[in-house]
Formats: sequence, structure tokens, C-alpha cells
Amino acid sequence: MLPESSDVVVVGAGNAAMCAALAAREQGAGVIVLERAPEDESGGNTRFTAGAIRFAYNGVADLRELMPDLIDEEIARTDFGAYTENQFFDDMARVTENRADPDLVELLVRRSRQTMMWLRGKGFRFVPIYGRQAFKVDGRFRFWGGLTVEAWGGGPGLVEAHKKAADANGIRIFYGARAMSLLHGDDGVHGLNVRYQGKSRTLRCKAVVLAAGGFESNPEWRTRYLGPGWDLAKVRGTRFNTGDGIRMALDAGAAPCGNWSGCHAVGWDRNAPEFGDLAVGDGFQKHSYPFGIMLNANGERFVDEGADFRNYTYAKYGAVILRQPGQFAWQIFDKKVTHLLRDEYRIRQVTKVTANTLEELVEKLDDVNPAKALETIRAYNASIRTGIAFDPNIKDGRCTEGLAVPKSNWANVLDTPPYEAYAVSCGITFTFGGLRITTDAQVLDTDGTAMPGLYAAGELIGGLFYFNYPGGTGLMSGAVFGRIAGSSAGRAAKAG
Ligand SMILES: Cc1cc2nc3c(=O)[nH]c(=O)nc-3n(C[C@H](O)[C@H](O)[C@H](O)COP(=O)(O)OP(=O)(O)OC[C@H]3O[C@@H](n4cnc5c(N)ncnc54)[C@H](O)[C@@H]3O)c2cc1C
Repeated sequence: MLPESSDVVVVGAGNAAMCAALAAREQGAGVIVLERAPEDESGGNTRFTAGAIRFAYNGVADLRELMPDLIDEEIARTDFGAYTENQFFDDMARVTENRADPDLVELLVRRSRQTMMWLRGKGFRFVPIYGRQAFKVDGRFRFWGGLTVEAWGGGPGLVEAHKKAADANGIRIFYGARAMSLLHGDDGVHGLNVRYQGKSRTLRCKAVVLAAGGFESNPEWRTRYLGPGWDLAKVRGTRFNTGDGIRMALDAGAAPCGNWSGCHAVGWDRNAPEFGDLAVGDGFQKHSYPFGIMLNANGERFVDEGADFRNYTYAKYGAVILRQPGQFAWQIFDKKVTHLLRDEYRIRQVTKVTANTLEELVEKLDDVNPAKALETIRAYNASIRTGIAFDPNIKDGRCTEGLAVPKSNWANVLDTPPYEAYAVSCGITFTFGGLRITTDAQVLDTDGTAMPGLYAAGELIGGLFYFNYPGGTGLMSGAVFGRIAGSSAGRAAKAG
């Protein structure tokens, strides 16, 4: 039975929501969680992730504190490097073209490691991301791109850990419970209308934390805010993030904030279903394009595949693919690099062709102009500065010369069969526009006044990401701001 009241109600059961619930409990508040999805589809986009999470660390000692299981032998064969707060600040500024709200970034970066340790203290476990984020060169792994750690068991493991922690802390999750609107008046927010088990109910509370995701799964809002063509994108994750949290807050007077026409979107299997499939998880993504080339329907390259480590380009290249004729591209590799391809290239549900000659390959690329494709590959092959050594662990500067669309790193002549090609379309991950919050994660109204009793965290806050995104920051943002929102809501509920 859904209770009639609670100190704090958290809307959503992804990473941001569950961190908020734990933090509110720490303040001594009673907390319940409303999850729109049924239990077997619960956990939002969080459950679809690999659990990769970006945080600042000064060296292996910091990592060992977080992951005491790291053994000396592992440390000896790995260069974990460091990812300092300054690097994190620089990455946020660079990829968002200096648009990210400095106050939010300050919290995200400075609280990143302590929030990881907070999770660790609540029983969460983390492991290094060998393979995806570190290649073995001359017998040694070397991490690159500021992303070193993932949650044990990936996204599903993270959601399970959250459930366990919620249970241990007396937090009840109600599945199939959809928050519909906020109860609010001059004194702020004091409850919600909820649809639960086919019935409308009223739930009173002292504070609400909205953590119900973005509007990525709502094709009408996508088209309205992201623009024409975005109705055609595939959704990488949950079908339940339709913008409810944002809508409820706006209806109550909250201010919109951030990059409403922007989103995180990637290259995603051309034949993937409309929404994410939990059995496949993030496997439809195809993130190894820096080691090959991408061709569109005209048989042309259209983007610098090697502009930067994939962590800093993948989230904006989905939009570039969406703009191509037919909204698709083919990624092409030769045998020299296929051992570097991520595990997602070896799943059963993959749109792939192979060939022993380039002539044969271009004929197999569905919907592509074969003559032009061959011409493009030959021009690309002839343009590479092969005197520069190839190294997948660094930005090696092995580039093309004289092409209209350059490739800046990891350029290799396509000359070693078998050739492999993978068809991708645009998969949207989450939207960037959302609600304006204070540094206490309290929602601001359109007059710039903090709304009593209303807090927000996760995908539905605006102001953090613009145009692009550094990989692994979504989970960190959810954890940092979820924790802040929960603490603030818990404190307010206990005080009120
Ligand atoms: C395939 C994929 C891979 C990814 N990989 C990574 C990665 O490795 N690292 C990383 O940092 N990020 C990754 N991301 C992004 C990451 O998933 C998100 O940034 C993060 O999980 C967002 O957390 P959240 O809690 O804000 O939202 P979510 O986890 O999406 O949770 C939102 C919750 O709100 C619920 N909800 C929606 N509407 C209502 C309503 N009206 N009432 C009640 N509940 C509602 C949903 O059911 C859901 O439980 C990935 C995303 C996808 C899709």
C-alpha cells in the first residue's frame, strides 16, 4: 500500500534518485521512492549503463582507497595515471564550450571523489575499466581519457547495490508508481498526485526530490526542443524518461535552464529497437570509430573520427550521424585494429558485413554509393602520415593530410583484410535541458526564488552539459547532486 504521507518523496529510482534517498535518510527523514517502471524494468537509464564513472583522483593511492581489492601485481602492470580536479574542470569547460554553470561544475568536480567514497561506505564496489579505457601495449595497461573506474556489475550491478542500500536503510521503493503533478501553494511544494496500480492518489510530504530523468524517450518533446529529425532517433535506454519531472516542476512555476536544444547521442546499431533492451544493455553502441573511418550514404566521410579520445567525441557524434542522409553511417575497420574493437562489436545483435577486398566491401554497404565509397577510402589511404607511430593509448597525432575532412589521430591505411563494417544510426542517451537549481539542489522558480520543498538531481537538471559531455559524467552528476538534493530535502523536512 502506498502511504498517505512521508517526510521526503523521491521521484525516480535511477542513480540520482537513490543517492538522494540515501542522503535524505542520513538526515533522519522518512523517505519513499516512486518508480514509474515496473520492477523488472526499474532503475532508469542507470541500469543500461556500463557503470563507468568519472571522478578526480591524484594517483593510484586514491584509487586503492576506493578499491582496496587492487593488488600489487595489478598495480605493477598498470599505469593508472591521475585525473586531477584541474583536468576535470578543463574537460567540462572544453567540451561544453565554456557554457557549463561554474557553480554546478565546482560541486561536480570537487565533490566527485568524496561522493565515490561515500558510496563505498554504503557498500558500493568499484573496479578498473580494463579493455574499454586502457589498452595493453608492450605488456602494460595505460588508462586514458579520465575514465578509470566502473561500478561492480555495471549498470545492473549499480542498481542492485542501490536496492540493497535502500533496503538496509529502511527506504521503500514503490514500482509502477508514476508521479503526475506536484501539490503546491504559496508555501511551496507539499505533496504529489500519483498514479499507482491504476488509481490516482494523493501523497503528502514535506519535500520532494525530482530525479525522473530527461525527455529523451518522448518523441514529441524531442522534436519540439531538439529539432526536426530527432523524432527519428533511437532511444538507448529506458522508455520511461518522458520529461514528467521537468513538466511537473515547470507547471508549478520552476525555471527552465540549460541547453534545451542539446542532448547526449551516440552511434548506435542501425537495426536496434526503438528503446533500449535490458538484455543487450549498452551493447548497441559502437564506440571504436577512432580506429577506423565512417562513411555516409553518399560514400563520404563527414567527421574527424580521431579528433580526440572517444570519451570526448562520442556523445556529440550521434547528432552528426542523425544529420547524414538516411540518418545512418557505416564504420569501417581492417584487420590491423579489429583486436582493439570494444566488446560491443562482438554481440550477436550486430549489423555487420565483412569482405576480403575493398571493392567487395563497398558493394556490401547497404544504401551507400559504392563507387564514391571506394574513391573516399583510396583518397583516405593515400593521405595518411604513416611515418608517425600508431598508439591507441595516447593521442598519437598519426593524421591525414590534405583531406577536406581530416582525421587527426589513429589514422591507419585500410589495407589488411578481412575488412569489417558496422552500420550505425543515432541513439539518444539523455537530454541536456532541465530545471534551474541552487547549489543546495533546490529548484528555482522563474523569478529566481528557491521553491520551498522542491529539489532536483540527475538528468533533469539543466546548466551542466552543453553540446557535448565527457564520458562517465552522468553517473557522477547524479551521485553528487542526488546526494546534495537528498541532504537538503532531508534537512528541510526535519526542520519543517
Ligand atoms: C545505454 C546507456 C549507457 C550509458 N552509459 C553510461 C556510463 O557508462 N556512465 C555514465 O556516467 N553514464 C552513462 N549513461 C548515462 C546515464 O545513464 C545517466 O546519465 C544517468 O543514469 C542518469 O541518472 P538519473 O538518475 O538522472 O536518471 P535515470 O537513471 O534514467 O532514472 C530516472 C528514473 O525516473 C523514473 N521516472 C520517470 N518518470 C517518472 C515518474 N513520472 N514518476 C516516477 N518515476 C519516474 C524512471 O523510471 C527512472 O527510474 C548511459 C546511458 C545509457 C542509456
